[in-house]
Amino acid sequence: MELSQPSSLLPLVATGYYTILLVISYVRRGPQARLTSWLLAFLGTSIIWELLLIIIPNSGSRPGLTVKLLVLSTAVLGMTTTVFAKWSWRKRALIPVGIIVLAALILDLLFPMSGFTLPTAASTRIRYSSLFSHLSWFGMALYILLRVWRDYRHTTLPWHANRLLFWGLTLLLIFSGEGLIFTHWSGLTITGHLIRFVGVAGLIYAISSHRIFDVRTRAQNVIGLFFITFLSGAPIVISVLLVQWLARNEPLETTILLMAITVTISMFLYPPLHRFAQRISNRFILGETADTSQVVRNYSQAIYRTLDVNQLSLVVIGTLSELLETNLGALMLVSNTNQRLSIKPIPTMGSIPQRILLPPHNSPFIGALLDQHQPLLQYEIDFNPDFKSLSPEERWWLSEMAMEVYIPITTGTELDGLIGLGPKNTGLPYQPRELELAQIMADQTVVALQNSRLYGELTAQNETVRRLNVDLVQKNERLRIMDRVKSDFIAIASHELRTPLTQVIGYADILGDMNEDGSLSREQTNSLLGHINRATKHLESLIAAMLDASEIDTAGMKLRLAPTPLESVILVALEPLAEAMRERRITLTTNGMSGLPAVQADQMRLVQAFTNLIGNAVKYTPDHGQISISAGVSPAENGAGEYVELVISDTGIGIDPEFHELIFEKFFRIGDPQLHSTGSTKFKGAGPGLGLPIAKGVIQAHGGEIWVESDQEDEDRMPGSRFYVILPVNPPATSPKPAGA
Ligand code: ADP
Repeated sequence: MELSQPSSLLPLVATGYYTILLVISYVRRGPQARLTSWLLAFLGTSIIWELLLIIIPNSGSRPGLTVKLLVLSTAVLGMTTTVFAKWSWRKRALIPVGIIVLAALILDLLFPMSGFTLPTAASTRIRYSSLFSHLSWFGMALYILLRVWRDYRHTTLPWHANRLLFWGLTLLLIFSGEGLIFTHWSGLTITGHLIRFVGVAGLIYAISSHRIFDVRTRAQNVIGLFFITFLSGAPIVISVLLVQWLARNEPLETTILLMAITVTISMFLYPPLHRFAQRISNRFILGETADTSQVVRNYSQAIYRTLDVNQLSLVVIGTLSELLETNLGALMLVSNTNQRLSIKPIPTMGSIPQRILLPPHNSPFIGALLDQHQPLLQYEIDFNPDFKSLSPEERWWLSEMAMEVYIPITTGTELDGLIGLGPKNTGLPYQPRELELAQIMADQTVVALQNSRLYGELTAQNETVRRLNVDLVQKNERLRIMDRVKSDFIAIASHELRTPLTQVIGYADILGDMNEDGSLSREQTNSLLGHINRATKHLESLIAAMLDASEIDTAGMKLRLAPTPLESVILVALEPLAEAMRERRITLTTNGMSGLPAVQADQMRLVQAFTNLIGNAVKYTPDHGQISISAGVSPAENGAGEYVELVISDTGIGIDPEFHELIFEKFFRIGDPQLHSTGSTKFKGAGPGLGLPIAKGVIQAHGGEIWVESDQEDEDRMPGSRFYVILPVNPPATSPKPAGA
């Protein structure tokens, strides 16, 4: 098993050959510095190995050295593969290699001649150290080959897989060449060297050119060509041989005549035979090619009928995926807003992440698509040094998309969109003619895409106008109601003010008349004065409410803040209503009031606000109804301080959602003001429409919020209303406003 000199000249030739390759590789070294240095190291070890092959057999030094050098060269080749296949580099991997080489050397030093002879061939003596070196070489070669093969099987993008396949094949050539060299037989040794030459040249090709030819398609084409030549040529050759054999006993003239006839018939038979062979080969080896012209015609008709971008995306990707046999594809819209490009994929086929890419101005990805106006393979992006400056975001986005190719949709000056296509289902890379066809179809898409985008923008604008219209109608309605409120105000104010005023005047008149008659007793005077007093108080409170309401608008409400327990606020607010609630058998429940923290507030103002709110609940709840007041504290979070939430619910007539905001407007009352009966606690007793605006003014002055929830107004069903009040424990001057309030 020891290597002997295969032929006196061959190692010399090989040394020259590897030296030339080394020089070429060094001169043409590209940007992949690490890869090139490992390749140079490999070529270096190959040269030294060949030199040893020349020197050792003649010098008589240890013959095991050559195979040890080959083990080293295989280790270097493994490192070259690590960089080429982008395996994660671990320094630890060098340890077993070092141990193997060291062990081989030690074996050689300690037991230089010990070994065994094969029982089958007694003349062949195998040394242990030599066996160990060969086995190490074999183990390493097998490991590298299997790992490349596994990577090849797991790579989804065909051009990436093709790169690994090519590399794997060159490695296979190199290792099988080396295997043949080990055999000693001069014929095989020469063949081994030649195979290794080809393999090493393949390595250099793979490293120096970033686009390796499509190995599988090339192989298919070669097989197809052999098949066609064989199938169309074999019958002719066979018939010529047959005629020659049959006419072997005939005179020469007859043979020539028969041959001439056979050749003539063959000439007629050849074209149909060739066509038949081509059909068979297309069907079973090369794969059928579709009638693209018809597809392109149908495609252009279909896209011009489509105005919706999503629909267009379906047509574009649907047609291309069917034609090129892929299950992954997306139309991507490129927009240019304020000089900033953005690429937005419209998911159409397969799982497409919904991520928008904002490529930088000088993006080589966009630049290549615009300048070259042809499909750009992900393979190019990954391995062509022109794309080295691609930003990490772009790289990440592209890897997320997992497309095999990007086809630009462009007018030449601007990029309107992209068509992203995933790998083909067959696992074969896209062929140039397929990419050309895809580009033709993308070019046809330009106008359709521009149209559909314009249509989309128009539709969006239409929708905005429609929404604005609805908004306008609502605002108009509100203005109309407010207008009505203004005129109602006169009616309400005069109605409200006149009632107590009439009472005052009436009782004063009676008092005057009776006084003149002298018929006025002390009790009667007291009773009449009591009436006048109550009417005056009512008048006073009305005017006070009007002044309060105007204060909200003009100077803003002035508050005197002090720590205020809300429980006592509610108790004070309930006081004037307790009698009426008892009379009308309205039950009141309170919940969570006792644990509330004291809020920084103007107690009088809060009492006023809650009296209005609870008063309304009493007014709009029928007899035997229920009112509940519940409270809770929300802890400080998201930058907002602690706040208290109170809900006053009733089982009353409810409020239509269209009035939920309007009832907080001054002088607004639902329904006809004249139909109301006046009274502060009677069922549906009307007020001047100031209770809620004042309550809102007070709550907002404390930095709080108030709103109402109610399904509808219904005097049969009595759906009830819920008034929500939020009050910060510390008003905004000392703490931020509650979130969401
Ligand atoms: P008023 O002085 O008329 O009560 P408010 O400003 O207090 O005026 O209330 C405005 C209108 O809101 C009322 O006229 C009434 O129609 C409606 N409203 C207020 N509170 C309730 C409630 N709890 N249930 C039903 N309707 C209510």
